[in-house]
Amino acid sequence: AAERLLGTPVQGTGNETVFSPTDDERANATFVILCRNSDLGGTIQSLREIEDRFNRRYRYPYVLLNEEEFTEEFKKRISVLTPAKIEFGVIPREHWYQPDWIDEDKAKAGREAMEKKNIIYGGSVSYRNMCRFNSGFFFKHPLLQKYRWYWRIEPDVHFHCDINYDPFKFMEKNKKVYSFTITMYEYEATIPTMWGHVKDFVKLHPEYIAKDNSLGFMSNNGGDSYNLCHFWSNFEIADLDFWRAPAYTAFFDYLDAQGGFYYERWGDAPVHSIAAGLFASRDQIQFFDDIGYEHSPYTHCPQSSGAWAAGRCSCDQARSFDYDGYSCMRKWDDFMGK
Ligand code: GDP
Ligand code: MN
Repeated sequence: AAERLLGTPVQGTGNETVFSPTDDERANATFVILCRNSDLGGTIQSLREIEDRFNRRYRYPYVLLNEEEFTEEFKKRISVLTPAKIEFGVIPREHWYQPDWIDEDKAKAGREAMEKKNIIYGGSVSYRNMCRFNSGFFFKHPLLQKYRWYWRIEPDVHFHCDINYDPFKFMEKNKKVYSFTITMYEYEATIPTMWGHVKDFVKLHPEYIAKDNSLGFMSNNGGDSYNLCHFWSNFEIADLDFWRAPAYTAFFDYLDAQGGFYYERWGDAPVHSIAAGLFASRDQIQFFDDIGYEHSPYTHCPQSSGAWAAGRCSCDQARSFDYDGYSCMRKWDDFMGK
């Protein structure tokens, strides 16, 4: 019955009639949610919101990933929420846990030093596993192989506006590879040596650097140092083939071999951002102003009043993070010549 509804009118939020796309009209895309069994409540909330604001009309599938088996209870409580296809996957051990070649004494010393400095997740091994997985492995998961595009969603986030078009199709049509809603400064203490390794990689592989790249957004001195601006990767709509391509494969392998995911606390956000900034041209990176998005403690609320009204947004435009002192949005605007 669910299949028969596709391509036929369904009632929208207002007077308009909205149409669910057919398989041909949809992109080859999926939502991806990495979470634990204990994240059930937050995952239900995020999934309900993206269904209400977007996916009840589009019916894109979901892939939920976890390093442990999801419980029957978890699967039942998630599956009831949507008619869209949902797949639950276990992450292969070698994609998640700290590799044997990491010097655990050195890693432990790094964690303890960070914990002393009160750096968020500074002492956590599981957080490091997660960051490394999101950097180099999620797109290798068997359940994602059939897809070209993904939308990353986390437990406990909010979608504040109706999304009245298909962002996946937008990405595809406009040849985008990466997108964001929030950009900010990284904690330098989590990545003290990362930029040095990035520079070494660029020297080794100048052939991977895109012509019209975004180095000017990430560095104020022509690449000498990193200004810490990155895209907040808890929201991502992006091209899986960008991560699967030779440039990013070589980049991730090079960074991984430095051990910084464990000796320091490298986040997937700077890793993805620097890669998109170097290996894609600037016009392949999309800022979605019209997607109202909240991940505590920050919210992006559409700055265009037209988009805010058309999206029936529940967020306060005046409290959008965009022009907060900690945001890199101004820098992005300047860089893009806006
Ligand atoms: P933050 O956004 O940087 O504060 O980090 P989160 O705690 O939100 O974690 C980022 C993402 O990874 C979320 O989707 C979490 O559900 C997920 N995550 C974090 N740690 C683990 C873990 O140990 N196991 C699993 N399965 N998911 C995790
Ligand atoms: Mn989070």
